Amino acid sequence: MKLFLSTDFEGTSGIVAWEQILKGNAEYEQGRYLLTNEVNAVINGALDAGANEFVVNDSHNTMRNLHPQDLAGRATLITGKHKPMYMMEGLDASFDGVFFVSYHGSIGAERAILSHTYNPGAIWEVRINGEIVGESGINALVADHYRVPILFVSGDEVTARESETIAPEAEKVVVKHSLGRFAASHLHPDLACELLQSGARRAVERIEEMSVPAFKLPVALEITFLVADMADMALWIRGVERVAPRTVKVVSDQLLTLYQTFVTIVTLTRSLVDR
Ligand SMILES: [Zn+2]
Repeated sequence: MKLFLSTDFEGTSGIVAWEQILKGNAEYEQGRYLLTNEVNAVINGALDAGANEFVVNDSHNTMRNLHPQDLAGRATLITGKHKPMYMMEGLDASFDGVFFVSYHGSIGAERAILSHTYNPGAIWEVRINGEIVGESGINALVADHYRVPILFVSGDEVTARESETIAPEAEKVVVKHSLGRFAASHLHPDLACELLQSGARRAVERIEEMSVPAFKLPVALEITFLVADMADMALWIRGVERVAPRTVKVVSDQLLTLYQTFVTIVTLTRSLVDR
């Protein structure tokens, strides 16, 4: 059994501040340690249930947060940037399941630790077929394209709630409760890792119950930016239309193309973020 893990960072127990998850800060090494332990707990749980092949895609910021020698399960690690499929780089139809590890709430969510949707400096809101989505919902487009079910999601309670529509049967493991964007109540890391391990084990054991995300076609992806210039720039890409001064829309029944267009928009508009 072959599993794909897309790992972010904000949803790890003990993490509440950007300084803990951005390279170059004194607190970063501790953050990295906590994240690595959580990823390994998930891999070990899946191993317990018989999974034997793992690809981990480090999806946070520099995408060089995990060190290959520290990973359990002899996992293949995808790191560095730029990756054309960004948070979903490496997934294809040969996988049996997708795991979203250390994910977080969308930019508009209430009381969601370090909430954002890809780029907090550019993106104000993303909707798929009219519904507000976070990173889990956007990344589910790729899982749907390859017909791979999402088996597992971990993070705070907002992360678990936001993944409910795209992965209702997935095992959701909540390792902390957000009190706001920069405060949370954390399970002790040992306990968090125990829950992650048992949750991952159950996810693999229950794989037959899991359904693939099924977006209604064609899919309409709408992005609202912080400023109108970003919407202007997004129009440089073929197929992107403007629906409001700060909002653009792409409609397609090709889910992979849609995700790639989204990645292109994210990459392009980064150049307009205020420093
Ligand atoms: Zn993220």
